[in-house]
Amino acid sequence: MISLIQFQRGLSMAEFLERYGSEARCPRARYRARWPMGFRCPACGDRRRSSFRRDAQTLYQCRACQHQATLISGTLLQDTKLPLTTGFLAIHLLTSTKTNLAALELKCHLGVSYRTAWRLKHKIMQAMAA
Ligand SMILES: [Zn+2]
Repeated sequence: MISLIQFQRGLSMAEFLERYGSEARCPRARYRARWPMGFRCPACGDRRRSSFRRDAQTLYQCRACQHQATLISGTLLQDTKLPLTTGFLAIHLLTSTKTNLAALELKCHLGVSYRTAWRLKHKIMQAMAA
C-alpha cells in the first residue's frame, strides 16, 4: 500500500480522497487492491481460501496451510487500531509535504492522540525509507 501511494506524490487532497477514500471505506476495493489477481496466500502462495468474520474484520484463511490474513495484515497499518482512512490520510500528509511534518501537526490533522500520531509517523517514515 505504501508503495502504491509513493508513486503518486503530488496528488491534491481532493484527488487523494477520491482515489483512496473509496478503498478505505469499501472492503471490495481493498480486496482488489490487496489481491489484484485473486487471493494468494502470503505464507504458501496457495489460491484456495475460505473467509470468515472476526470482530469487525474479515479473515481470509488459506485452505492449504491455514494461514490467516486480513486486508491490512502485512501493511504498515497492521497493528494500528486506526480506521484505514486515518492511516491513508497520514501517509498522504507525510508524503506530500516537502517539509518534515511534525507529529504535533499530524495529531491535529488526524484528530488522534499525540502518541498515536508520533507512532504512526515513525512507522510511515520507516516504511518509506525501506
Ligand atoms: Zn497458505
